Amino acid sequence: MSLLETSGLQAFYGDAQALFGIDFGLDAGEVIAIIGANGAGKSTFLKSLTGLVKAPRDAISFNGQPIGGLPPGDIVRRGIALVPEGRRLFPSLTVEENLLMGTNAKRPGPWNLQRLYAMFPILTQKRHEPAPALSGGQQQMVAIGRALMSNPAVLLCDELSLGLAPIVIREIYAALPAITAEGMTVVIVEQDVATAQQVSQRIYCFQEGRVSLHGDSAELTREQISAAYFGL
Ligand code: ATP
Repeated sequence: MSLLETSGLQAFYGDAQALFGIDFGLDAGEVIAIIGANGAGKSTFLKSLTGLVKAPRDAISFNGQPIGGLPPGDIVRRGIALVPEGRRLFPSLTVEENLLMGTNAKRPGPWNLQRLYAMFPILTQKRHEPAPALSGGQQQMVAIGRALMSNPAVLLCDELSLGLAPIVIREIYAALPAITAEGMTVVIVEQDVATAQQVSQRIYCFQEGRVSLHGDSAELTREQISAAYFGL
């Protein structure tokens, strides 16, 4: 049994259907990348997993329990945390206050302020600054940190690279080994296929709300991925 599983997951915005039966499985300790073009449904999938988009109870299971459609707070307390697309920091709060928001889940675990500041030293200097005063890359570090502060079993990251310069993207991804070192299970939505293949063990490609390809990251060929990504 997978740690986190979806079976025939559908999602709607009003009458518009965004996901058409997603079958997905994630084992403890894996790093999975989800790739796909704009509008393929990647964000909707992560939002469904975290209760931000409604899902039927039995379509999602975590640790063997059905969790589809539970309130987002319940899902965080069970151990699934989201780094949302566009960071979504609280603009009126300082860096440290944003990080501490993650502790509302009251889950025990290895992540705390000290540990985060060791991973992203620049945040130590900026801890009392308002979040909007930081650069995009630094804000992304705060968004990752806020999610880690809930000590999740599964960390879901939506487009960490969005709007960031290549050098900053490398800096963000350089933190991944420290995050996975203790067996954190990670799902990363990433538009850049090369990055997705480098950082993950398995890839799911989404196209128009469906899984168009899935397999081992090291084994999928560029041709297979192009066909699944663009529907060629
Ligand atoms: P992107 O890389 O652009 O974020 P994505 O793969 O994450 O793309 P989604 O954002 O999940 O795709 O969008 C999937 C579909 O759902 C698209 O057709 C999109 O237009 C639609 N959609 C997304 N959010 C909403 C919303 N709040 N209301 C209505 N439709 C939406």
